[in-house]
Amino acid sequence: MSLLECTGEIFKEKSYRQAVKGTAPAAPTRGCQALPGEVPALEAAFAQAQTAPSLAEGRRARHSGSGLGEGELPAAPCAPPLPRQRAPSSPTLLPRASREGDSSRQDRGPSPHQDCGHPWTAGRLSGCADSHTRFPQLPEGASLLWLCTPEMAAPKVAVVGAGVIGLSTALCIAETCPSCSVMVLSDQFSPNTTSDVAAGMLIPHTYPGTPIHVQKQWFKETFTYLFAISNSAEASEAGIHLVSGWQVFKNTPKEELPFWSDVVLGFRPMSEAELQKFPQHRFGQAFTTLKCDCPPYLLWLEKRLKATGVQMYTRKVADLWELHSEYNIVVNCTGIGAHQLVGDEKLFPVRGQVLKVHAPWVKNFIRDGDGLTYIYPGIHRVTLGGTREKESWSLSPDPGATKGIFDRCCSLEPSLRGAQDIKVKVGLRPSRQCVRLQREVLSQGGVKLLVVHNYGHGAGGFSVHRGTAKEAARLVGECIAALQGSSSRAKL
Ligand code: FAD
Repeated sequence: MSLLECTGEIFKEKSYRQAVKGTAPAAPTRGCQALPGEVPALEAAFAQAQTAPSLAEGRRARHSGSGLGEGELPAAPCAPPLPRQRAPSSPTLLPRASREGDSSRQDRGPSPHQDCGHPWTAGRLSGCADSHTRFPQLPEGASLLWLCTPEMAAPKVAVVGAGVIGLSTALCIAETCPSCSVMVLSDQFSPNTTSDVAAGMLIPHTYPGTPIHVQKQWFKETFTYLFAISNSAEASEAGIHLVSGWQVFKNTPKEELPFWSDVVLGFRPMSEAELQKFPQHRFGQAFTTLKCDCPPYLLWLEKRLKATGVQMYTRKVADLWELHSEYNIVVNCTGIGAHQLVGDEKLFPVRGQVLKVHAPWVKNFIRDGDGLTYIYPGIHRVTLGGTREKESWSLSPDPGATKGIFDRCCSLEPSLRGAQDIKVKVGLRPSRQCVRLQREVLSQGGVKLLVVHNYGHGAGGFSVHRGTAKEAARLVGECIAALQGSSSRAKL
C-alpha cells in the first residue's frame, strides 16, 4: 500500500488503538528503545511508506484510491470542521495561553479553508486563494491532498520542546499536514530556552557523522526560508536580517572554500585592504549571511503556530510513554533535555557563554576562524562570544569568561570598549556527532508509540533548523502512513 493509497482510507484512531493496545504499559521505562521484531506490522508499514512517494511527490502523483490523475481534484472532498480538542487531562499541563492571557492559544485554529467554505479540502489549492495566503510556502498549484479525506479523524501529534527546533518542526508538520492536530508541549518556552541564548548566525557548524551533502541541503533550505522572510514586511518582527562581514584566520585554513560558501551571498577572499583591519590575521573570507535575533524569531514562530491552529502547553514530559494514550505520534525536539528524557548517552552539552551588548555602531560581523571569538550585530544588540566547554552542565555565568570574551572581542574590534549595558547569557549546546533525525517505534507490553526524534543540533541549530524540521515532518508523514496501514489491516 502506498502513501497515496492511504489517503483514500479512513484513519481510525480507535481501531489503531484496538489493534496495538493490549494492556496499559506497566511502568514507564528509561531509554525507550524499540524492540526489534516486536512491531512487525508497523515496521512493515514503515518500509512500505518509505518506498512511497514523498509528500511533495505524493501531491503530484496519481491518486489511485480515488482514480484521480495528476493535478486532478476530488469532486468535493471537504470534511466537516474538526471538533474542538478536548482539554488535556494532565494536571501538569498548563495552557500556554493562561500564562500570557491570550485565550486564542487554547483553540484549535481555523481550517486553512475556513474562509472559502472548504473546511478540510483535499485537492489542488489553486482554486482557493486563501490557502496560499496561509501556507505561502506551497508552490503554485500544489495541493493539500495528503491525509485530507472527508471522514478522516485528525491524527494527534505532540511535539515536545519549544526551542527553535520544536517550534519550526511543529510549524512544518502543521503546514504539510493541515488535518493533523498538532500540540507543542514544553517545560520552557521563549525566553527561557537555549535557543534564546544563541547568536542565531547562519554559519553552519559541521556534524562529523552526517554526510556533507545532507548538511548543505539543510542549510540551503534554512537560508532560503529565512532569506524570503528577510525580504518581506515581517523581517523586523521576525528578527531576521542580512549581515555582511568577515571570517578571519591567523593561518590560511586547509579548506579555503567551506561547503556552504555557495549558499551564503557574495563569498570571496578578503582583499589586502580589508585585512589591514586585522593585523594579527593573515587570511580572511568576506560574505553576507543571515542573522536571527533569537527571542523575536521564536515569538514569531509561536505566532505562526497559533495562526495555523497549533496549541502550546507548558508541561514537563518525564517519559515519552506518558503521552501514548493521548497522541498517535510524538516528536522529540528536547535539545539537551533528550539526554535525560530518552537516555541518549551520545548527546552531551557544550556550554556556551556570550555577552549581549549595546553597541549600535557595529554593523558588520567579525568571526575568528577558530570559532571561539565572534562579534555578531543583531537588530538591537550585538552578541559577543564566546566559550565552548564540553560536558559542562553549569548555567551560571563565569566572570572570568566574561572578561576573556570581552577582551578577545575588543582585540578584533577595539571600538567595543565603548559598549554599554553588558548582559551575560549561558546556554548548553545539545551536541552529538550527528543530529538525531529518525523515527522509532517504542514498544512496551504490546503497546506501541510512534516517535520521531529531531535533536542534537549542537552549535548550529539555527543554521539548519528549517531543513531538519522539514525532514522531521516528512518522517511524521511516514508514521501516519504506517498507522493507516496498521489500521486497515486491523479492519480486514
Ligand atoms: P532548545 O532551545 O534547548 O529547546 C529544547 C526545548 O525542549 C526547550 O523548550 C525545553 O524546555 C524543552 N524540553 C527539554 N526537555 C523537556 C522535557 N523533558 N519535557 C518538556 N520539554 C522539554 N546556532 C546557530 O546556528 N548559530 C549561532 O550563532 C549559534 N550560537 C549559539 C551560541 C550559544 C552561546 C549557544 C549556547 C548556542 C548557539 N547555537 C547557534 C546553537 C543553537 O542555540 C542550538 O543548536 C539550538 O538552540 C538547539 O535548539 P533546540 O530547540 O534543539 O534546543
